[in-house]
Amino acid sequence: MSVFHQVDGLSDLPANFGGTVFRPQDSGFAEAAKLYNGRAADQPPAVIVRCLDPDDVVAVVRSVDHAIPLAVRGGGHSIDGSAGAAGSIVVDLSQMRAVTVDPVARVIRAQAGALLGDLDTAAQRHGLVVPSGTNSVTGIAGLTLGGGIGHLMRRFGATVDNLLACEVVTADGRVVRADEQTNPDLFWALRGGSGNFGIVTHFEYRAHPLESDVVSGHIVFDGEQVSGILEGLHDYMRSAPRELSLLATVVAAPPLPFLPAEVHGTTVLIMTPVYSGDLENADEIIDSLLALGRPLVNLVTRRSWIETNSLLDAMAPPGRRVSQRGGYLAAPTKDTIATVMSDVADTPRHAGTMHALNLYAMGGAISEDFAEDSAAFSRQGAGWIWESLALWDAREEDDGHDAWSNRVYDHLKPLSLSNGYINLTQDLGPSWRGRVYGDVAKYQRLAEAKRTWDPTNRFAYNKNIEPA
Ligand SMILES: Cc1cc2nc3c(=O)[nH]c(=O)nc-3n(C[C@H](O)[C@H](O)[C@H](O)COP(=O)(O)OP(=O)(O)OC[C@H]3O[C@@H](n4cnc5c(N)ncnc54)[C@H](O)[C@@H]3O)c2cc1C
Repeated sequence: MSVFHQVDGLSDLPANFGGTVFRPQDSGFAEAAKLYNGRAADQPPAVIVRCLDPDDVVAVVRSVDHAIPLAVRGGGHSIDGSAGAAGSIVVDLSQMRAVTVDPVARVIRAQAGALLGDLDTAAQRHGLVVPSGTNSVTGIAGLTLGGGIGHLMRRFGATVDNLLACEVVTADGRVVRADEQTNPDLFWALRGGSGNFGIVTHFEYRAHPLESDVVSGHIVFDGEQVSGILEGLHDYMRSAPRELSLLATVVAAPPLPFLPAEVHGTTVLIMTPVYSGDLENADEIIDSLLALGRPLVNLVTRRSWIETNSLLDAMAPPGRRVSQRGGYLAAPTKDTIATVMSDVADTPRHAGTMHALNLYAMGGAISEDFAEDSAAFSRQGAGWIWESLALWDAREEDDGHDAWSNRVYDHLKPLSLSNGYINLTQDLGPSWRGRVYGDVAKYQRLAEAKRTWDPTNRFAYNKNIEPA
């Protein structure tokens, strides 16, 4: 049973509130305030209200003075740190991680604090999978509400394309369902418009069979080969099967065990293919990728889905200081590749830091099977997603790494589409938010949904949409 203390803006929570309240002087506050981005600790929230079930969420929404905005925490992975914004009251769902599977209907119901690893583990017990992201400790909530891209998007679409329903606590403390039939305007907005419209307590997903192992791993090429290989990748992926996904990472090689010592610190290309189709065809497909250059290292092998979907965890562990930018490309042109190469060569040189430019191939189901207007998530014209990631540990280095991220964005913006994916970049301001969902009509539709569901902008700690 928790003890609740009066805090500015909060009236007492009801006696049946089952969660825990953390204030800065409480033991456990610092731990509860930790987010993926280590920079969150610089400016902690005012109070964290950890909920154990949807009734707790309703209690918090009703108990907080309606003039005070609420921050919402799912998995805590957003680089913006909005899940623990400075001075905010946080509705923390991190303990609500139950995932239940209906193997006959192939429907999975997950509480909003679940992580991708929880979803994968529960689904794989029944030979099923929901397409999500590539890092097992990312939260399903923020990922799903922004779109959800990963190793299975070319085969099954984005996470939002496989979302069947949400249970939502609204700004005025009601519990509503959102699906194609019930509150369809809310359901449309939730599928890409992120945390602007309410607090989702449950997600329901369509799952797909994935019963055997997949073939996955890293292939590393040295710096001299990077441009040539990247130039051929767009055509290669256009004719590749949907069961093949590809992430191409251009990076000043970090001292990871799978990278030979002689390339540490030099620019390399790390390709991460995942082939989830018929295993009999896997060798031919992976051989064709290897033939694009002269690999230094080939770690592609048969693995379980669970192992595959945590392969990238080691590259970007939680707790470091992070800066992230991103956008969409129609294709990586020669100009884009030259820009990527020069930006990766021109990073602040501090020991232990990492600067990477990731290129994720779209195409297949995510691009072809779902219309631009089917959800708020935008995909029009996007052949590739680019994402720059800087990771470091010392606070005094912030300016240099942020400046690098800004340079990358300035260089790649003219080569990018005006729409984009909101989850693989930090918030880039109101004019970017007005364009990132695609055409003006889509943003207007989101602003109208905001006016309907959150007219006073209680859910303001996010990539915020102003009520129309
Ligand atoms: C290392 C790393 C790898 C990543 N890989 C991928 C990837 O492969 N694919 C991909 O698509 N994205 C990826 N992302 C981005 C990721 O999707 C976003 O950071 C996402 O916001 C994380 O969700 P979360 O619940 O963990 O975040 P949180 O920080 O908890 O939440 C982010 C925001 O989402 C909203 N929100 C969270 N929970 C709720 C809720 N229950 N109801 C309403 N609003 C809510 C809030 O506005 C909150 O501020 C990655 C991020 C990192 C740091």
